[in-house]
Amino acid sequence: MPAILIGITTTRGSSLYGLPVFSLTEAYINAVIRTGAVPIQVPLGLPDETLEHLLTRLDGILLSGGGDVRPGRYGGSEHPKVDFVDDDRDRVELLLVEGGLELGIPIFGICRGLQVLNVALGGTLYEDLQDQMPRAIQHDYIDEQPRDYLAHPVHIEAGSRLANILGTNATQVNSLHHQGIRQLATSLTSIACSPDGLVEGVELPGYPFGLAVQWHPEWLQEQAPMRALFQAFVDASSKYREGHD
Ligand code: MN
Repeated sequence: MPAILIGITTTRGSSLYGLPVFSLTEAYINAVIRTGAVPIQVPLGLPDETLEHLLTRLDGILLSGGGDVRPGRYGGSEHPKVDFVDDDRDRVELLLVEGGLELGIPIFGICRGLQVLNVALGGTLYEDLQDQMPRAIQHDYIDEQPRDYLAHPVHIEAGSRLANILGTNATQVNSLHHQGIRQLATSLTSIACSPDGLVEGVELPGYPFGLAVQWHPEWLQEQAPMRALFQAFVDASSKYREGHD
């Protein structure tokens, strides 16, 4: 059985010595390791052509959380709350989604990853939920609570792949975002939402595995359903790999 290679996107940050680094929270890596697959950190800065070559070697793409997508990417407007924009990261991730979808590679998006998937497919975002979304509940607990704090419930569409994986139609999730889906891409289906109606989960119908959630299951790995989410993604990646051997 060959190793299943899961490409995980990274964030620009700084090292202990203040030097620039590409980083990724260990929680993503550990969640993938737990499935038996091999996490491969995808650095930013790779030329388009190199990314296309890399795609032919990966079995799954995990779009990690991070800063905000440049509003111009979805016809939005700059907003004072828009933060940590990295145009190069937008380029890398949008290319991975577009190229990955052409090849049929399983894609799993988390937080920003859900937003990137929506933007890649033509959807739009709220630049700031509290400011722009009517009757939005609090979604940004980044500075207030630990990462595994269960902030709000989500209702999950009965019969959806997500409901089948999690084994439930309702669950409590963490919430570490200030943006969200404004207009859902026409090719995506909403499969989960919070009590204020915000889309918290999407799926690409008819695609082997195109799924994204607005919460952070990598911080909730003590819960079997959240581990199952990573396992379902890796199982799909394994199946994709088998089709290529
Ligand atoms: Mn939320």
